[in-house]
Amino acid sequence: MVLYYRSTRSEQTQNLTASEAILQGLAPDNGLYVPTQMPQLKEDLATLLAKDYPAMAFSILKVFLDDFSDDDLQACIDAAYQDTFDTADITPIRSVGPHHFLELFHGPTLAFKDVALQLLPQLMVTAMKMHASDKKVAILTATSGDTGKAAMAGFADVPNTKIIVFYPQAGVSPIQKQQMITQVGQNVTVVGIDGNFDDAQTNVKHILNDNMIVKKLARNHIQFSSANSINIGRLVPQIVYYFNAYGQLVQNGTVKLGETVDFSVPTGNFGDILAGWYAKQLGLPINKLICASNANNVLTDFFTTGVYNRKRDFHLTSSPSMDILVSSNLERLLFYSFDQDAAALAKFMTTFETKGRAELPDTARQKLTDFVAFSTDEVDTLTTIRLMQTKYQYTIDPHTAVATHAAIQYSQEHKSEARPLIILSTANPYKFPEVVLHALTNHQPSETDFAAIQALSNLIELPVPKAIRRLKHAKVLHEQTIPVAKMSDLVLNTLSEDKSKSKDVKN
Ligand SMILES: *Cc1c(COP(=O)(O)O)cnc(C)c1O
Repeated sequence: MVLYYRSTRSEQTQNLTASEAILQGLAPDNGLYVPTQMPQLKEDLATLLAKDYPAMAFSILKVFLDDFSDDDLQACIDAAYQDTFDTADITPIRSVGPHHFLELFHGPTLAFKDVALQLLPQLMVTAMKMHASDKKVAILTATSGDTGKAAMAGFADVPNTKIIVFYPQAGVSPIQKQQMITQVGQNVTVVGIDGNFDDAQTNVKHILNDNMIVKKLARNHIQFSSANSINIGRLVPQIVYYFNAYGQLVQNGTVKLGETVDFSVPTGNFGDILAGWYAKQLGLPINKLICASNANNVLTDFFTTGVYNRKRDFHLTSSPSMDILVSSNLERLLFYSFDQDAAALAKFMTTFETKGRAELPDTARQKLTDFVAFSTDEVDTLTTIRLMQTKYQYTIDPHTAVATHAAIQYSQEHKSEARPLIILSTANPYKFPEVVLHALTNHQPSETDFAAIQALSNLIELPVPKAIRRLKHAKVLHEQTIPVAKMSDLVLNTLSEDKSKSKDVKN
């Protein structure tokens, strides 16, 4: 039996297979694709947990992406995880004191996005072959810093694809920016915009479903897709490390098989934590998913009051990848909270999109018991980095610090029912050297970028990763910045340039 995907916003008229949904990215009605029924794992938990990362990934991906053949899926997983991460465990747990950090930053760009974005291009190319498509795929991506680099690293020079990344000029860390503007690859374009991440994301969604643009591209045999976590092919690979984390703690005796655990997740677009919720639906014994936000606390308010309200100040924080007011993947959770009633969900989303604020009815709110939410301000973020360093000589990045602070708060509130708590560690601290140095030395470093990296490496035991060292001498290849209003022009120009290039080749 084939598993179908449907949009969150319309009744089930045009269901797609997994490979079709991956190619499509965003649904034409602006909804997100979700499976029409919750997949079931084919083996029991103990069997699944005994597997290594790639084998576990195969078992989980297979039930979500069931129109991929076993051979194709295995080839995708091999290409994604063989030799691309600096550890064969892919996502190792590091336990210090009572804290279990799930290190998701061992991939090529040093952020958790690699886990999914090393795999997504493989899935997309395979999907194109499955449908014998003569089209090229143009990936449009909005980034708050890490998705852009990880997506380009995955898609660079992948045949028949082209990728365009928009990042907020003032909203990414210097290292994140350096990583992006030095990206090589014939098919990559990276552009700064004069807005924030929400502007980038909103406009990318508009362009993806702009009929005039879509038709023009279709004439040139180009089809849009997305590498943001609105793409189901990005979300599903993230379910794997929740199981893998649990498996590691069972194997080392910290957790008894079947015992429940909590996860604390530094949250921006709600993709990472939503993957944890899917893991729970598949039977992973999770008690609570702790939604950790920085000063941009839309989600904290949402989970504590049921009101989704983006009408507030936007803060640039030391955890830029979470500087988000509108979290795309919340829509998928809302869809389930409305008992998969697309009309009710669409009405809620329209209210939110037009008024900037929408209130969840009580019946839907009562379905959200898997989540608790905390927000952490800038001072507590720095204090937490310093606390982990002085107590355990363990260095964490500012995003992980936000999740750690939330975990500590949650544990204090639930002392009597303590259970193992896994903190998702989403970036290597050397991606944010100024912040970490500031946290550890208590003075605002005057050094930027590479001087701060050097100073930091003198303070901590963690070696500077090669991917960071290489950046220093990497050539800047992408200096373009544009106003938000020019995003669609840029997309059209970039993609029609491509056409003239391929003509030249033929001539
Ligand atoms: C993207 C990102 C997050 C937030 O993840 P979402 O899936 O967007 O909620 C947290 N930390 C880091 C370092 C990131 O790059």
